[in-house]
Amino acid sequence: MLKNDQLDAWDRENFFHPSTHLAEFARGNMPNRIMTGGSGCHVEDRDGNRLLDAFAGLYCVNVGYGRTEIAEAIAEQAHKLAYYHAYMGHGTEASITLAKMVLDRAPEHMSKVYFGLGGSDANETNVKIVWYYNNVLGRPEKKKIIARWRGYHGSGLISGSLTGLDLFHKKFDLPLAQVIHTEAPYYFRRADLAQTEEQFTAHCVAELEALIEREGADTIAAFIGEPAIATGGIVPPPAGYWQAIQEVLSRHDILLIADEVVTGFGRLGTMFGSEHYGIRPDIMTIAKGLTSAYAPLSGSIVSDKVWQVLEKGTDEFGPFGHGWTYSAHPIGAAAGVANLKLIDELNLVENAREVGAYFRQAMQHAVGDHPHVGEVRGEGMLCAVEFVADRETRQFFDLSEKTVPRINEALMKRGVISRAMPQSDILGFAPPLCLSRAEAEEVAEKTAQAVKSVLG
Ligand code: PLP
Repeated sequence: MLKNDQLDAWDRENFFHPSTHLAEFARGNMPNRIMTGGSGCHVEDRDGNRLLDAFAGLYCVNVGYGRTEIAEAIAEQAHKLAYYHAYMGHGTEASITLAKMVLDRAPEHMSKVYFGLGGSDANETNVKIVWYYNNVLGRPEKKKIIARWRGYHGSGLISGSLTGLDLFHKKFDLPLAQVIHTEAPYYFRRADLAQTEEQFTAHCVAELEALIEREGADTIAAFIGEPAIATGGIVPPPAGYWQAIQEVLSRHDILLIADEVVTGFGRLGTMFGSEHYGIRPDIMTIAKGLTSAYAPLSGSIVSDKVWQVLEKGTDEFGPFGHGWTYSAHPIGAAAGVANLKLIDELNLVENAREVGAYFRQAMQHAVGDHPHVGEVRGEGMLCAVEFVADRETRQFFDLSEKTVPRINEALMKRGVISRAMPQSDILGFAPPLCLSRAEAEEVAEKTAQAVKSVLG
């Protein structure tokens, strides 16, 4: 095994890390952390630290680390048949079984699932499906996609455009012209603090209506949203939001894409976020929790309504010209089958609901009264603590103070991994769905200590 210092040098000399301050990392001003193992909600690094991962990697290791059932399913598939493609009607027992398992769990009106590799490529696929759909229907002008500020839908060209966070646009020449953004359903950060939740929902709906009016409904193909915003700050929608938005979309014949990459397979305490909020999507994006990240796999689930048009399209224009070499990769599919079985066997959706609610209560109790905590919020096994420089005015901290990254670091020193969310003063938590009550208490208590160490 390589010594840490040698690995450190190779890391800084050769490895182009995603979402990283490249110059600071290369200069050695940022620590690297080399992970070696994991079990349950804990991970270990090469320095012997054992950390409670209260962000489940990137909200993806939903069943927790070290599950031998999934590891064995992957090994068995790799021994038997590591790869075969899915083009022109090919498949494996694993990919066909997983497609059935996904559809069995999805809302009734969903019809088929297209497998990709990650959430970003699934959203690229979704946009191509939507464009193809409108071309087949003879509506070549109906192509724009509405996304929300603060939404996160990936880092590709279109998926990065759908994302509504500056960092993912600035200097990349994004968003592309086909994507337009509307109001974030972010009640805590509403411009008019006098608004009730219902009034704020009405405001979001009015903004959407105005955007559609300005652009013309005949130019807009689809609206994409996460049932509850994740990377943009862990923000559940205000009361009545989805019902009102859906009414507008169906009136204008605009398809709805529910990006369930974070919320799918139990994170909100229901199998899907769509179920949780009464959303009836035309397309759903899935990834992360589909395999609990034991292998890369994503999916685009399409409804009957969309599928009928896609079938018609291939009758008119020939095979659907969109595929990845690794679509429905057998190893990812085998991991998915074992993972979904485990979620059922361990009752993890219910655990996410119950322990998630307990976790938020514990967090509220631990830090909710701190003068710099503006709000503790979440849903299911998602929790955010939003910090404010001033509680009355909700003023942000000066960015250069790096307040939340310092709290995040202080928590890490106490053995808990959280995430300083981008573009805000928000500390995020998204533990594995198997979190226990004792672990929930530990995270809350250590968060209180970390907050105290930074903010007093
Ligand atoms: N959609 C949502 C809601 C996400 O949170 C993410 C990733 O965090 C993505 C899409 C992109 O997924 P990936 O990073 O697998 O490409």
